[in-house]
Amino acid sequence: MTYQNYSLKQLQQIDAAHHLHPFTDHKDLRDAGTRIVTHAKGPFIYDSEGNEILDGMAGLWCVNIGYGRDELAEVAAEQMKELPYYNSFFKCTVPTAALLAQKIASLAPKHINQVFFGSSGSESNDTALRIVRHYWALEGKPEKNRIISRKNAYHGSTVAGTSLGGMEGMHGQLGGAVPNIVHVMMPYAFELALPGESDHDFGLRAAKSIEDAILEAGPDKVAAFIGEPVMGAGGVKIPPASYWPEVQRICRKYDVLLMLDEVITGYGRTGNWFAAETFGVEPDTITTAKALTSGYLPLSALLVGDRIASTFIEKGGEFYHGYTYSGHPVCCAVGLRNLEIIEQEGLVERVRDDTGPYFAQALRERISPHPLVGETRSVGLMAAIEIVADKATRARFEPAGSAAVIVRDYAIANGMMMRATGDSMILSPPLIWTRDTIDLACDRILKALDLALTDLK
Ligand code: PLP
Repeated sequence: MTYQNYSLKQLQQIDAAHHLHPFTDHKDLRDAGTRIVTHAKGPFIYDSEGNEILDGMAGLWCVNIGYGRDELAEVAAEQMKELPYYNSFFKCTVPTAALLAQKIASLAPKHINQVFFGSSGSESNDTALRIVRHYWALEGKPEKNRIISRKNAYHGSTVAGTSLGGMEGMHGQLGGAVPNIVHVMMPYAFELALPGESDHDFGLRAAKSIEDAILEAGPDKVAAFIGEPVMGAGGVKIPPASYWPEVQRICRKYDVLLMLDEVITGYGRTGNWFAAETFGVEPDTITTAKALTSGYLPLSALLVGDRIASTFIEKGGEFYHGYTYSGHPVCCAVGLRNLEIIEQEGLVERVRDDTGPYFAQALRERISPHPLVGETRSVGLMAAIEIVADKATRARFEPAGSAAVIVRDYAIANGMMMRATGDSMILSPPLIWTRDTIDLACDRILKALDLALTDLK
């Protein structure tokens, strides 16, 4: 590799001089110095200082089959030699795009049979917004175009993704969002449940905020509700069991489409191919990306249900929308092989029947009792650990988020990559984790919590 001719210091200087990073305070970054990740194998990443770090985030919620899978490198190389690129505009397709669309449709809920490809979750959410509004226009209801989303939701970083999302900091820098998108409360019982309110009742109340927003606008003005089955970047907020069925009921009652953003949860993370199954809902669209290729190449897929698709195909005419890399042959070849590996290795079933329940138990029995932990919660291989100053009152340390950063820094220093979002530590490991990997992760997390406790006392 050519980078090996450079010293760590040189690479850091070059990076600081020229590379603008996502979601980064660059002044901070330059003061702190960049971690340079050089290679990875299985569940571990390695940095240029020789540290081996267990990757509790699967990269960025994506490397579901783990690192160093030669099968994907080989299939990419073969496809690059045969057909590195062709577009799927102008009545053309490429074999791998057709086959991957078929494969995704076979894994998706029965009423979903169409796929539109992009390169990122953000792009596919743009596509979803366009298709949903176009659908209602084709149905003769162009004014039925309001989208209901949730505060603190993350739907990507494009202008439409940011507008759909509900992150205040992002909206603050947007300078004008896509119109007619409103945000209601998130289903986050740990902070938002009222004293004495059961999880069940809280879930219904959180869902009711959607009904209120529909009634406020008038049902004939509301196109869709969009939500992550589990809010990921917002802190792995797992809704109470009462929430999603009630959201589905409300959407049906007012003829509001249901858009699920499964960019994180798609392809096995919650112990089913799609979290729609885990939470028992029938969405009209499902946005997917990340684990579709286990992050080895950029690829996203918007899954479109039969209701929208039949109108779109029969009455739509030309849809003036598409990306140069929609259905990229190499990305699709890698996606196909990745899904085959997930199937052959039974990773979805393993998460559902073995590692998911074991992870939940390990968190409950080993991490929850720690004095800094207010709650652990998980679904499949996706978890949060709430950091609190006082377990009984759930009071947080001041300033908000500062304690979680201390825990995170100790975790990384002790070989455990995890992320801090506000006061929630989050985990979303590769689906190849075994019970032993979970034990190792818990050892390292406990060590980080103990070190942080000493600092915070
Ligand atoms: N939607 C969700 C739920 C996500 O978590 C993300 C990224 O983390 C996105 C959309 C955006 O995906 P991308 O970064 O590929 O544009």
